[in-house]
Amino acid sequence: MHRFLAALTFLVLVPACGEGEAARPNVILITLDTTRADFVSCYGVHSGVTPHLDRLAASGTRFDMAISTAGVTPVSHASILTGMNNHTHQLRVLSAPSGYTLPDDVPTLATTLAKHGYHTAAVHSAFPVSRNFGFQRGFEVFEDLNTQMKHLTNDKGQVKSIWDVQNFQRRSDETTDLVAKSLKGEEPFFLWIHYWDPHDWDKLPPDEVLAPKERFFDATGAPLRPGIELYKAELNYQDEQIGRLFAGLEQRGLLENTILVVTADHGQGLMEHGWAAHRLLYQEQVHVPLIVKLPGVQQAPSVQDLVRTIDVAPTVLDYCGVKPERPFDGRSLRALIEGRRDERRLAFGDQINGYDSNAGMAYREDRRYDQFLYMVVDWPHKLIYRPLHPEQSELYDLATDPDEAHNLYASEAALAVRLRRELARSSPWVPGPYESVTGAEQDEAAHRALAELGYAAGQTVDPTWSWTCPEHMDALLEGPKSRCGRCQSPPLMIKRGEGG
Ligand SMILES: [Zn+2]
Repeated sequence: MHRFLAALTFLVLVPACGEGEAARPNVILITLDTTRADFVSCYGVHSGVTPHLDRLAASGTRFDMAISTAGVTPVSHASILTGMNNHTHQLRVLSAPSGYTLPDDVPTLATTLAKHGYHTAAVHSAFPVSRNFGFQRGFEVFEDLNTQMKHLTNDKGQVKSIWDVQNFQRRSDETTDLVAKSLKGEEPFFLWIHYWDPHDWDKLPPDEVLAPKERFFDATGAPLRPGIELYKAELNYQDEQIGRLFAGLEQRGLLENTILVVTADHGQGLMEHGWAAHRLLYQEQVHVPLIVKLPGVQQAPSVQDLVRTIDVAPTVLDYCGVKPERPFDGRSLRALIEGRRDERRLAFGDQINGYDSNAGMAYREDRRYDQFLYMVVDWPHKLIYRPLHPEQSELYDLATDPDEAHNLYASEAALAVRLRRELARSSPWVPGPYESVTGAEQDEAAHRALAELGYAAGQTVDPTWSWTCPEHMDALLEGPKSRCGRCQSPPLMIKRGEGG
């Protein structure tokens, strides 16, 4: 009887919520900083870490292979908010003289939904999603933690830019309290909540959560490496706060007609590839959880297809019945959510660490990592292209080698060519450091010439970069806009002879 009623209910529900039809749904977007998919328990590896997220996933759709566009917070958040790849939205680095802000003319979920009558609020837990990066546009309430980067120069003249990590972050209990205060309950609303707990050890869960201490810290009080137990404890505490958040919203009746999306900006290395942080493009950094719960839609419980965090914004606007202001790189997940097949997707990502003064640690500490990494995933194959050392690029079959241990780049030449072509076609290159925008603006002609070549404001072309064909790697091309004379492929960026 119950099953029959459920089927009947499905038939009469209106899945979309176009303007002028039923009341438009609220939208809650929760971004979990530094949360890799495989540590969210419903993804099946570590049980009992995230019971509240698991419960949400059980009532919505869990995407098993969602890929983010970067391993660094502001860059990948910009993709979640805009539905665009990094080279489209142009926020590419965390710290540089330019290139770290979302340009004013790039629409976000907040700016678009605000134009359609949504009340908008954001409650954040750390500096890297603050107004410093241009994320405040479109929000009526914007509870960020803004500060200024500090720039230190060493005796080699290298600039290291840092921020006060201890004082410009909030623990998830504080964030959850602040959401309750910030949300007035006027509908429809768009609420973006950002949690940060597993990012670092500067703010720990309460003492009773971390007992006994020997499980997490050595005799000197330093966290045990690689920190898996502490990472799990922080995720677990954060999940408890998410449970409290859901309970509070439910009590106020604010979850009934609400689209709920939970994802992450990136994961975290726990020494799998010798690295205990993010800013790289291995699966532990870019495979993120993605859970979508919709009101009044019969949803597929899980989806195995490759999807991307750039699909979040198109999906949200699709179910809100709101047209995008600009084309997305991402595509609505509606077909997959509703249990139908969809065309395959390619996932792109990059790390422009070499032009990011906050990122020195990602290549100076370990020479295995390059200053520039570009990624394309065409399931099950993944290319991590290294323009400084093309021969050291990496190619993996994620279906048979999910740990990315067996590099096929040299042995699978035809596959490498195909993926290099896909990458070149997307033109993601950053061919010079991000310079001061005010300096660049003084030279209008140079500015226009660069714009014609397809470069963003503030970027100059570093003359040491060369361009080659993705297939004919021996063929040097004229520049970023030229094509290979033999096969007409768009150019691949390359830098020969310079040790990264
Ligand atoms: Zn982050």
